[in-house]
Amino acid sequence: MSRHYEREQSEAIQAVRQAARLCLMVRAALKPEVLDKRDKSPVTVADFGSQAVICRALEIAFPDDPVIAEEDAEELGRSGNTAVLDEVVGQVRALGLDADRNPSPAEVCGWIDRGRSSQYCDRFWTIDPIDGTKGFLRNEQYAVALALIVEGQVVVAALSCPNLPIDSASAAASRGVIFAAVQGHGAIVVPLEREEEYDPEFLPVHVSQRTDPAVLRFCESVESGHSAHGDAAAIAARLGIITPPVRMDSQAKYGIVARGEAEIYLRMPTRADYREKIWDHAAGALIVEEAGGTVTDIMGRPLDFHHGRELSANRGVIVTNGRSHARVLEALRDLGLAQG
Ligand code: AMP
Ligand code: MG
Repeated sequence: MSRHYEREQSEAIQAVRQAARLCLMVRAALKPEVLDKRDKSPVTVADFGSQAVICRALEIAFPDDPVIAEEDAEELGRSGNTAVLDEVVGQVRALGLDADRNPSPAEVCGWIDRGRSSQYCDRFWTIDPIDGTKGFLRNEQYAVALALIVEGQVVVAALSCPNLPIDSASAAASRGVIFAAVQGHGAIVVPLEREEEYDPEFLPVHVSQRTDPAVLRFCESVESGHSAHGDAAAIAARLGIITPPVRMDSQAKYGIVARGEAEIYLRMPTRADYREKIWDHAAGALIVEEAGGTVTDIMGRPLDFHHGRELSANRGVIVTNGRSHARVLEALRDLGLAQG
């Protein structure tokens, strides 16, 4: 029986819950203070605040564990960005994590920079403080992702999705879930807030059992720059899928497959030289696998988390409910799309 990682799981769930609360607060009062990263993707106060909150929690609970995270505090430290830094610090303070004292700007930057590791090691955490920044800005789907990787295997995952309905029947007001998984122990979903009101029977999540192409559903990125929509359409046509794709930002797509609301998530490379980032997949991949699904790259290789910040030995990502996996990979090969 594989290790339970109970303490890691409960700390991870609590960390992504606090980070999601910060994101919701920032979203509720969003000002157009959006920094331009070198790659021009928008980075918000919530991105930095979320990373600070998670790194703080990890520092307290697991002080020896390295962290590979998406952001660093370098830009926040630049003189032109003091207003943004002040806002990040204000948002972190507003969470009231430590009732006795307020963290200083230097402490907040120090927490963010705990995520600066980049080398692979035997045990480390990886964080995407806001996955799907564009979805966050559009007030659509986004996620806070945290995973523990031990000897190259994702063993603990926590993924909060503040805008995802609690279940498909929920009213729009009932939003916000956390998916979590421990390797060998299944995947669960808990509401972001008021979790005590829900029946524990509601907790486990499982992939859908559908195999008939007439009822298969697939999802992909909203951004055509992140996943080739044309290639996905060709695969869907080849498989006989008739339902149009669900387009959604962030690892919420993994959550959708894990809880059986879609059978397939396709992430088809848009550029030969792009390498997927580990924080974009580690948490989601374990959650889907523990819900009974399968995750590989476009050639059918397992995701390989031994290479630091990037999945440098993989190309693209294919996620299914398991039963559909071989057929999807076959369609890719038939169409000449299974190429590195
Ligand atoms: P999604 O919300 O699924 O579209 O994925 C968002 C993530 O896509 C971001 O966190 C980026 O790390 C990642 N990304 C950026 N450029 C690319 C690209 N060319 N191909 C695949 N993913 C990308
Ligand atoms: Mg991301």
